[in-house]
Amino acid sequence: MPIESWKGGEVDVAVIGAGAAGVAAARRLQLLRPDLSVVLLEASDRVGGRARSIHPFGTDAAALDLGCGWLHGARTNAWTGIAEEVGLTVDRTPAPWSDGGRRLEQDDPGARAAGAAVNRFFDRVYDYDGDKDTDLSTMLSPDDPWRERIYAVGAFMTGGELDKSSVIDLGRYDPGPGPDWRVRQGYGTLVATYGLPVPTVLGVEVSRVDHSGADHIVLSTGKGELRAGAVIVTVSTNVLAAERIAFWPPLPEKIEAASRLPLGLANKLFIRIAEPDMFPDDTHAMGSQHSRRTGAYQLKPFGAPVIEAYFAADLALDLERRGIDAMFDFSVEQLKRVFGAGIGAKFSPLVMSAWASEPFVGGSYSYATPGASDLRGVLAAPCDDRLFFAGEACSRSRYSTAHGAYESGVVAAEAVAKAL
Ligand SMILES: Cc1cc2nc3c(=O)[nH]c(=O)nc-3n(C[C@H](O)[C@H](O)[C@H](O)COP(=O)(O)OP(=O)(O)OC[C@H]3O[C@@H](n4cnc5c(N)ncnc54)[C@H](O)[C@@H]3O)c2cc1C
Repeated sequence: MPIESWKGGEVDVAVIGAGAAGVAAARRLQLLRPDLSVVLLEASDRVGGRARSIHPFGTDAAALDLGCGWLHGARTNAWTGIAEEVGLTVDRTPAPWSDGGRRLEQDDPGARAAGAAVNRFFDRVYDYDGDKDTDLSTMLSPDDPWRERIYAVGAFMTGGELDKSSVIDLGRYDPGPGPDWRVRQGYGTLVATYGLPVPTVLGVEVSRVDHSGADHIVLSTGKGELRAGAVIVTVSTNVLAAERIAFWPPLPEKIEAASRLPLGLANKLFIRIAEPDMFPDDTHAMGSQHSRRTGAYQLKPFGAPVIEAYFAADLALDLERRGIDAMFDFSVEQLKRVFGAGIGAKFSPLVMSAWASEPFVGGSYSYATPGASDLRGVLAAPCDDRLFFAGEACSRSRYSTAHGAYESGVVAAEAVAKAL
């Protein structure tokens, strides 16, 4: 719907950003306050943000997720119930890191030793009770033979290198109990489907939020102005930190919080397999146990004829900048070492994500730099009971997840429903 047609440029609540947080906020507001008009304003041409599914094998086949894929803490993850409610299929195949999950190296003694070393590292992080925050690399034992593997796992989790991320923040991470499941039609499909009942304007980038007036907040966009009684901002920390939205009066504490809670980077490459029967279904393989510059490979997710390669942190940025051929060549070299030199001919590149250069996102998921974990609360705090903030980075313990984003959207919606 064109923004100029929206009730003469006036609305009760405008939600900026149609990702998991924005969709959740708008849906909860529709439920709590059907008397209020709500509009979702989205800069890109689709709903979902970092939840994005594609369907290269047709709509009946399993989708591929370029962004979030796992329903972490699935039993208490709100999206699990929503998936069933909207008629999508929750796939309960155990994740490779859960009990019963399939890993190619599961009987390999080296991989077991690496797993134990990684667990000891996480125990040290969770047990840390120092007064001062520090970076994750300080939790490594200097003589640990599995340092590189720990670097790699830390990067997959935070999207950043260990020496940039906060120990206290990772110690607070808790996606909730239960295994991790998936949605066969895709996490992106789930978020977009849930957003369907919300009036949404696509292709409208909000560039200014003027909250100086007593009655209304005025939003400036490339397609005109909109006045709103309350606004919920759900854009990523990298978008906020780059001041892609100008606030008037300025909100320096939000910009500082966002800058110190930057997005790490994770990217995926889907590799098509010419002879899929050669590989087991839904099985995980590490490219290397001994280098932090490694991909993690999910063979045939949902039995689809693809390998999902996952890269994080500096390696992900390097490969994203060099493009799909470089990402593919890197993966094939690693897969040849696992499956033998002849395997390369069976593969071709299908599609990659490039989240660092995604214009309205700028990365994958937030991590805290040392000392910045409490700034998640600063980011989430409302201004004057009419300008509200949500998004994964606002969650104290479920940051970096789509259900953390959902919960932050619900909190903001409940506050708006009370305030108006
Ligand atoms: C590769 C990858 C793998 C992941 N894996 C998982 C996983 O397995 N499980 C999990 O739970 N999470 C995972 N995540 C993280 C998860 O996807 C995110 O935490 C979540 O989707 C963030 O939702 P959000 O609503 O906070 O932000 P976003 O999805 O970024 O939504 C914000 C929206 O705002 C829009 N926007 C930006 N600027 C403007 C503007 N000026 N005006 C209007 N609109 C604007 C953007 O286009 C975007 O649509 C993964 C992410 C990536 C990238």
